[in-house]
Amino acid sequence: MAEAVSDFVIVGAGQNTLTAAAYLAAAGNSVTVLERHPYWGGGCITHEVTLPGFRHDLHATNVFMARANPLVRLDELGLLSQFGLRYADREAASHGTVFDDGSAIALYKDLERSCDSIGRYSSSDAKAYREFMLRTLKYIPLFSMALFLPPANGATFRKLLAASAEGRYLLDFFNASTIDVIDQNFTHERTKVHMLRLATEMMMRADAPGSAFGLMFMAGLYHSYPPGFVVGGSQGFSDALVRCLQHHGGEIVTGAEVNQVTTDRGRATGVTTTDGRRYSARLAVIAGLVPWKLSDYVAGTEALTERCKQVPTSDYTCFLTHLALDEAPLPATPPEFQSMGFTVVAPIDYDAMVRMTYDAQQGHVPRDFSASYVCASNGDPSRAPAGKSTLYLYRTVPTLLAGQPLEAWDSIAEATGDDLVIQTARYIPNLTPRTILGRRYESPLDIQRESPSYQNGDVASLAMTPDQFMGGRPIPELADYRVPGVNGLYLCGPFMHPGGGANGGGRPVAIKVMMDLGMKLDKVFQL
Ligand SMILES: Cc1cc2nc3c(=O)[nH]c(=O)nc-3n(C[C@H](O)[C@H](O)[C@H](O)COP(=O)(O)OP(=O)(O)OC[C@H]3O[C@@H](n4cnc5c(N)ncnc54)[C@H](O)[C@@H]3O)c2cc1C
Repeated sequence: MAEAVSDFVIVGAGQNTLTAAAYLAAAGNSVTVLERHPYWGGGCITHEVTLPGFRHDLHATNVFMARANPLVRLDELGLLSQFGLRYADREAASHGTVFDDGSAIALYKDLERSCDSIGRYSSSDAKAYREFMLRTLKYIPLFSMALFLPPANGATFRKLLAASAEGRYLLDFFNASTIDVIDQNFTHERTKVHMLRLATEMMMRADAPGSAFGLMFMAGLYHSYPPGFVVGGSQGFSDALVRCLQHHGGEIVTGAEVNQVTTDRGRATGVTTTDGRRYSARLAVIAGLVPWKLSDYVAGTEALTERCKQVPTSDYTCFLTHLALDEAPLPATPPEFQSMGFTVVAPIDYDAMVRMTYDAQQGHVPRDFSASYVCASNGDPSRAPAGKSTLYLYRTVPTLLAGQPLEAWDSIAEATGDDLVIQTARYIPNLTPRTILGRRYESPLDIQRESPSYQNGDVASLAMTPDQFMGGRPIPELADYRVPGVNGLYLCGPFMHPGGGANGGGRPVAIKVMMDLGMKLDKVFQL
């Protein structure tokens, strides 16, 4: 078979590698993307997995981190203006917590509306929230910039922060736990539950040092950007990237599983696929290959691979259930809380919420119950047939069940999923056998089946602890995307900076590659 040759060969068509591919193609390079599945998108895919006409986001549903990325924020590649990316923005709350007595707290992009919601229960917490957020929001532009540039060296970054009062305020969040910050600032049980659940989206135990950063970051993003529900599902983000890639002459090949990166005298020259095809790269290979298995693909990377195997995954992950419903879900709350973007259902019990993160971290499905859901069809009718609805439902669970291999999830997946639906029905009374037309469960094992990035079903791929930010992810030697000893090979994926999330994280990789090759950046990047 003739060997295909292009400037860049990209392994995997997740949203990270697709982003890098689209930038490199827009800069005038020939690009070939190889994907093992018959479809593209990685963590941003939307498929009809229950019944025809019901389109479910199988993984990421909220593509809002990408809104902080100049890729979307400044529309650098024209995804919004030319390639069909559209967000289904609404006036409704971006996020909210519904409690077991039908009361609720809503988080709007607008800070004052959010304070009013908290102020229904505690005026002192509303005041504390306003002060906390006004301080936090000053840092969001800095984060939005730093996350989408090649990472700074971790030690240098910390030194820089330590030099100013503002920097030290930020450093405190890298050291403090979620519990520390919540207990220092808030007193009312509902506010504390609401804040805790927001922070634990980072998949870190509530008492873990540095977990406070998740609280600051998640709340800060929600008050800076509208939630990111993409019209047509998170697939719409991947599809816009592919349209952009193809517009610039790039090619995407599905059903092509890469099994080796070929090298010649210490330089990556291309890849081979499991069915014997060869793809040559004139300039570089950009690989969505997981670093803890790198030596399976590239000779000479054994020591690095061993180090990456030691990096911990998140404290816990999630178990998902996708429902096709005969009608919109109606939580037992006042009407203004019935169609929030991202909704948590929770007991008014802070200790129970903290306990859930401990239980899951120790390998147990938490004994207390809380779940989160998104009803995307509320804001985007293209997700379900007229009058019907989709529901994306999940709860906190361990990656590995205590003392058991990941495969053990298959034996309890159905029971876990059924329990998730039954317990959520206490908060959404019209979740009944009559309204549920179809369901599909996704355990941590199923999540790992989708992509090797989701090690043990970890949705963040590796822990998002402070030492795993910036120049520490996944290990300092690999953090600038280059693979030592293999020139022209770069890693790209959620296991690299800026980390897990539907975030267009291939932008800094493309910047790094183009800088190394002496290419002009200003053609595609607004720096
Ligand atoms: C269940 C779940 C829910 C989530 N929810 C959210 C959310 O709401 N918001 C949010 O911001 N983030 C969310 N995330 C995280 C986010 O989706 C991911 O961190 C991000 O999408 C991962 O980046 P990716 O798509 O580039 O990587 P991946 O999803 O890992 O994609 C990598 C691609 O490369 C392919 N590939 C791998 N190896 C090879 C090979 N050897 N040859 C060829 N192809 C290969 C894989 O098949 C896959 O298609 C969620 C993740 C999960 C799993």
